[in-house]
Formats: sequence, structure tokens, C-alpha cells
Amino acid sequence: MAQSLADRINNLEESSTLLMSKKSRELAAQGHKVINLSIGEPDFKTPKHICEAAKDAIDKGFHSYTPVAGIPELRKAIAEKFRRDNHIDWNPENVIVSTGAKHSLANVIQVLVNPGDEVVILAPYWVSYSEMVKLAEGKSVIVEGAFENDFKVTPEQLEQAITPKTKVIMFASPNNPTGAVYSEEELRAIAKVVEKHPDVFVLADEIYEYINFREEGHFSIGSIPEIKDRVITVNGMAKGFAMTGWRIGYIGAAKWIVDGVEKLQGQVTSGTNHIAQRASVVAWDDLSVTATMRNAYLERRNIVVGLLKEIPGFKVNVPEGAFYAFPDVSYYFGKSDGSTVIRNSDDLALWLLEKAHVATVAGSGFGAPNCIRISTAASEDSLREAIGRIKEAVATLK
Ligand code: PMP
Ligand code: GLU
Repeated sequence: MAQSLADRINNLEESSTLLMSKKSRELAAQGHKVINLSIGEPDFKTPKHICEAAKDAIDKGFHSYTPVAGIPELRKAIAEKFRRDNHIDWNPENVIVSTGAKHSLANVIQVLVNPGDEVVILAPYWVSYSEMVKLAEGKSVIVEGAFENDFKVTPEQLEQAITPKTKVIMFASPNNPTGAVYSEEELRAIAKVVEKHPDVFVLADEIYEYINFREEGHFSIGSIPEIKDRVITVNGMAKGFAMTGWRIGYIGAAKWIVDGVEKLQGQVTSGTNHIAQRASVVAWDDLSVTATMRNAYLERRNIVVGLLKEIPGFKVNVPEGAFYAFPDVSYYFGKSDGSTVIRNSDDLALWLLEKAHVATVAGSGFGAPNCIRISTAASEDSLREAIGRIKEAVATLK
């Protein structure tokens, strides 16, 4: 029997975040003291009130299938959250719950993008965006934010990228991998561009909403009335509530888009995990742990940025949200430790894993080949140790 995977899988890149995490686990299994700063995953536990609600759901016998779009209680809680926190006036019928924000994003792309449609992705971007577009046979149009502009794309750049084939503009703020946060003013300027193109949709990934260090806090582009019906706001429980393994993501969008996603889920996954949905209903009742975690991420950001700036040749931006640092390391390209030549960020990330036993992710998969991503979702001690090891290692590159 020939092993003949479909072209759509053969042509798909493996997720570089998950791949580096796998490599890091393998090295650790061989007995090495690896510090894994590759995967972006909170190192905190899920808040107690959410865990209690999950236990209660098990005891009360919520073991059945749920409606495909999610239990009414959760859709209602999310609609209220959109209204209260994001000033987006959605009803429960505008909300659909999925198996993580990754699933939500992939669903929306499947539902909106026809073969040949263009999806403008603001770069640096999260590794899975371009592959989701590929799966839908769409064409990614990558628009790069400059380091000097805190990796953010300007409205002028966006305008230039839009063509009659553009269907969706896609980005995350706070951003993975850069930590950049688009301000209200910047988002309003982007919305003005979108307003001029009535057939273009905005896919706004707000999964890092609660990990935002700007004083004025989070602003949602979906709250701008002129384009509200064309903005799909994606969010999930993974980051703000340290619930990566619970797999709950959701969108707020015009009803016809939600209905499209429901049709797709109805054939592919059905409604997501019932216990996790019940637990998520109570999440917003108490945001104190979420705030504590955000403060810890801020302290770590300060430590990591300070230490990275001390490494000769590293160019470091100051992330305003999320839990990543994204230094430009291109100074080391072309240098060698005597046996290995570091040609690019992929080489450097692999070399750091082998030499320093620190797992990071190359910027190439994020559309930023000069950088590496370092997750700051780890204890202060391991962050200090890891960056010390990186500094020592790169000092041997000549
Ligand atoms: N969007 C971004 C920008 C992310 O970093 C992630 C990673 N978790 C996701 C979406 C997916 O989140 P989830 O774990 O809910 O699928
Ligand atoms: N979003 C996280 C990251 O960027 C989790 C891993 C993944 O799903 O890609 O590392």
C-alpha cells in the first residue's frame, strides 16, 4: 500500500511552536535540563472557581452532547462579556463556542474564504494563520510591520495590500509573537481603511485581551459601529484564565457567519466539551486571578527585556502585552561556533536548543525571519537562567 497522504496535508507546514516544544520534551526525556520557552502556555493553574464549576458539572451529570453552537448559558455569558468589556453589542445568537481559539479561527477561514481569495495577514503573525488559509485554498498576503514601528502595520501599508480579491484581514492584538498592542487610535485608522472596502472582513484575534500592559487597556476593533458587522472577534479561555487544556474558544460575529460555523461544526466536531463549557460560564464572575497573572507577566516582561538588551547584537522591542519577547537576532547570522554556521533564525533556535538547552521558536514561521520568540510564561528563575545560557552561548559565535 502506498502511503499517500492528500496534497493538502503534504503541503501543510508543521506548527513550529508545537514542533519545538516536542523537540524540547524529547531532549528532556534524554535527561537534559531543558528550559522550554517555546510553547506559549501559561504556567499558572486555572482559577479555583472555574475548577469548582467543572467538578460540579460532573457531579450534576452534565455528561451529554451540547447544542453544536454551545450551551445557552455560555453563549449568554460571552454575549454579556462582549457588551460589558468590549463594547460590542452581540446577542447569544451572535456567539459560537468551539474547541479552542485555534478551532474558532480555522472555522472562520473555512466559512469565509473561497479558493483564490486573498487573506491579508498582518505580520509578524501567529504561525497557524497562513496554514489555515492554505487549507481553505486561499492566498495569504503578508504585510510586515516594521521593527521601528513596534512591528505594527500602518493603515497606508494595509491600503496598498487590499485588492478586489481580498476577503479577510487577519491579526492578533495583543500580538503573538511580538507582544505589540494596536492602540485605539491605530485600530480606528485601520477601520477607516476597511470602511472603504465593503466586501472585506476583519478577523480580530483577541486571545491575549487580558494580558495587556497598556494603561488604557484593551480596545476591540469590533466595537467600531461602521464596520461592526464585518468584524469577527475571536477569543478563548486559554490565556487569560490559564485554561489551555480545557479547549474553549469562541467568536462574536454577524449571525450568518455564526450559522456558517455552526453548519461546519455540525459535520466535523459537534459542540465542544460539555464540562469545560459549564466551567467557563462562571469564569468572568471573578477576574482577580486573571489580574494577578497579568501582573506577573508584566514583571517577567521587564526582567526578560532588561536581560535581553544586555546581549550584544540583540535588538529588543518592549512588548505591551501577551507573554513573549521577540528579539531581532540577525546580528549572529553568518557567524559560527567553529563547527556550525548560523545561517538564519531556524538554525539559531535549533542550535540554542542543542547547545544551551533552551527551547525558543524561530521567527521564520511567524513571518519574521530575523527574530526568535521567547515565551515569558515561566518562573523568574528559569527565565533568568535561560537568558543567561543564551547570552553565554551566543558569545561563542564568531
Ligand atoms: N491565537 C493566538 C494568537 C495564539 O497565540 C493562540 C495560541 N494558543 C491561539 C490563537 C489558540 O488558542 P487556543 O489554545 O484557545 O486554541
Ligand atoms: N499559541 C501558543 C503558541 O503560540 C500555543 C501553541 C500553538 O498552539 O501554537 O505557542
